[in-house]
Amino acid sequence: MRDCVLICWLLCVPFSLQAQSHVADMHLHYKWTQQDVTTPADAVAILEQENIVMGVVIGTPAALALDLQSLAPEKIVPIFSPYREGSDWHRWAYDDATVARARTALASGQYHGIGELHVIGGFTPAFEKAVVLKQLLALADEFDVPVMIHTELSRPDYMLAVCQQFPNTHILWAHSGAVLGPADVARIFERCGNVWGGLGARDPWRFVDNPLTAADGMLLPEWRALLLKYPDRFMVGSDPVWPVDQLDRWDEADSGWQELGRFWHYHRSWLAQLPDDVARKIRCENAVALFGRTVVMTCD
Ligand SMILES: [Zn+2]
Repeated sequence: MRDCVLICWLLCVPFSLQAQSHVADMHLHYKWTQQDVTTPADAVAILEQENIVMGVVIGTPAALALDLQSLAPEKIVPIFSPYREGSDWHRWAYDDATVARARTALASGQYHGIGELHVIGGFTPAFEKAVVLKQLLALADEFDVPVMIHTELSRPDYMLAVCQQFPNTHILWAHSGAVLGPADVARIFERCGNVWGGLGARDPWRFVDNPLTAADGMLLPEWRALLLKYPDRFMVGSDPVWPVDQLDRWDEADSGWQELGRFWHYHRSWLAQLPDDVARKIRCENAVALFGRTVVMTCD
């Protein structure tokens, strides 16, 4: 029933009013499991179709992001992912070579950030022992580029340690804590001015138990209040990964790019509930300010 109400509501939203605004997508993957379904040319065409003026792309392996950039250099911002294959999401934090590879990538001038780095309960070392993560945070500060981190832990303490110990590193919190609620996000934002909150995959199909909106599509009051309190700190991404029941499955292609329009349709629907100036920052300007320093991009 809840799904039905939501689907009906999404279909009824005046799509034409919202589809026109330019957006920046701070969370795009282009993975080896996506190539068969979506060629680089297809991906760029989808960005055009959705009025996406800037896309931050995480390649798995990293160089796949450069394939997209070569087709749309005015639009694509590649960041360096240490993942060469799917299972690296739980290996990177223990591999000393990760840091040397990241340094080489940033020094090449081809990548403008590091990430997405997964910090998942049960798979990641405690912060005190997270040597590789700390070295990457210092490296990002040295090269003055953001680090995108996906924490999936029941408390915000890990992110608090990260942002407080690396106050000069720009940290993009991939899903604003993923399974954390607005009170925990507020706690981080209050203490750390160097953290920006991504809202990729915070939609009715992923992180389903931690929604931004109610069944009728309206922003939950706590989230609305937080977005209004910190209009310069949030940004939106599609995180085109699908299906999502298994992270980086190897036996089935990932058709996430074919779902990208659906994800953005949802995000545009709640953005339309905010004052225009706030919505404009969150849908585009904040991401361009954080990532668009090397290319000329406009949200107009
Ligand atoms: Zn993520």
